[in-house]
Amino acid sequence: MQWRNFLRTTIARTSLTSLALLAASAPAAAAKGRPGSDWCPPLVARLPKISLAECRNSQLTPTGIHTPNGFPLLARELPADARHPNATRVLLLGGIHGDEQSAAAIVFKWLEYMQQPGEREFEWKVAPVVNPDGLLAPTPRRVNAHGVDLNRNFPTPNWQQEAPRYWARATRSDPRRYPGKAPISEPESRWVHDTIEKFKPDVIISVHAPFGVLDFDGPATPPRRFGRLIYQRVGVYPGSLGNYSGLHKEIPVVTIELANASLMPPEAEVRRIWQDMQSWIRRNVNAPLKTARNS
Ligand SMILES: [Zn+2]
Repeated sequence: MQWRNFLRTTIARTSLTSLALLAASAPAAAAKGRPGSDWCPPLVARLPKISLAECRNSQLTPTGIHTPNGFPLLARELPADARHPNATRVLLLGGIHGDEQSAAAIVFKWLEYMQQPGEREFEWKVAPVVNPDGLLAPTPRRVNAHGVDLNRNFPTPNWQQEAPRYWARATRSDPRRYPGKAPISEPESRWVHDTIEKFKPDVIISVHAPFGVLDFDGPATPPRRFGRLIYQRVGVYPGSLGNYSGLHKEIPVVTIELANASLMPPEAEVRRIWQDMQSWIRRNVNAPLKTARNS
């Protein structure tokens, strides 16, 4: 289904209050040349505890890349505040699996925190919904509209041999874990790949659910604990972002696995994960790697 059709269906089901909000803000956005107000209603219909206003306040802008169903990939760059020159660059990705709604929603909460004064010691590039087609499918799906598991589609070494073989043998050709016909065959995974090349993050945070742990790949000390989530290896897979970026490109990747795919964690936990994540970055990514790089 094209996302515009989805949007129409969603709006038809939306309450009058939301419709009034939509009508009130659409002309303002259009006047600024920012047609972004259209993207939020279908997204928030799927995101636990994210209001239309919160989605709009995130000020995501289109990257110029569209999904197979024509939905724009949305992102935002936020520089560090003036007290932090040469700040660590963090790429924060949510919702690479479309059926992990909490993993997209929590990134919108963190985008709110980032916009509060005194909260930006790092330079951020944030994409809360990397797989909008999966999220917006009639029933949210792990894979994108081409049926590809984007987190198995990154160009790890020997992908052509290993990814299809792993899929056939270890997953018994599970359609939810199909790696695609070729590495970065999908616009969404190609965008992540190209963003790593251009933005040159010092660390990548990718949010998933529902295993309730932290996983880590790459050259840094793994995080021990963010909020209630404790470090525990989940695994290394051909074509995964952790494998590609952490092990192959040597950019540390923290995979946050929230405990529930459809429910937002309590607000105190959302805040604790955010604070623990920043203090881990501060201690383990910033100084040691920057020093090594400059020497
Ligand atoms: Zn996932």
